[in-house]
Amino acid sequence: MQQQNSLMNQLQPDIQPLSSEQQQQVVDETQVCIKRAELLLAIHIKPVEINFTLKGRAAGMYRVKHHGSRFFGREHREIRYNPYIFSKYFDDNVKTTIPHEVAHYVSDMIYGLKNIRPHGKEWKTIMQTFGADASVTANYDLSGIPQRKKSLYSYQCNCREHQLGPVRHNKIKNNRGQYYCKHCKQTLLFKQADTELA
Ligand SMILES: [Zn+2]
Ligand SMILES: [Zn+2]
Repeated sequence: MQQQNSLMNQLQPDIQPLSSEQQQQVVDETQVCIKRAELLLAIHIKPVEINFTLKGRAAGMYRVKHHGSRFFGREHREIRYNPYIFSKYFDDNVKTTIPHEVAHYVSDMIYGLKNIRPHGKEWKTIMQTFGADASVTANYDLSGIPQRKKSLYSYQCNCREHQLGPVRHNKIKNNRGQYYCKHCKQTLLFKQADTELA
């Protein structure tokens, strides 16, 4: 038991992830923020998944997954929080990360992500509506966190899943190219597109 504890301490020397009470508090604050957007902007937006599965250097991320075809597909939206980084700067993240991610979600609901820039004027206006400082978050974004939209496309062959970037994805979409799996020699078929905003 003691040995296990010291091993844990070595892996995570300082930062403890959010406790379940803190996670509930973050979920509640996020819901309050969404409710405020609905009242202030006189809109109704559907519920979004909120989870704590984010790893890496960003405290939060807004992600849209598109399954299937453009016209008959399903979309799934999530606000993801990083339980370690959020915990390390808890009060700051409540003040900045929550409105930051909610503003991505709300601007997606109002305008559609493909019609706006990730931290453009639509997003900034929503941040101002929240009374959140968009310039503070600009600093936070630049510290190693990608500012641009990241799109990843999942393709499937007979044996595994492949991730393609936007260039190859667009070639396939416009019938200017086909890609084959090195292992099973099958044509890659489109499965899912993910858009992520930090
Ligand atoms: Zn294969
Ligand atoms: Zn952002």
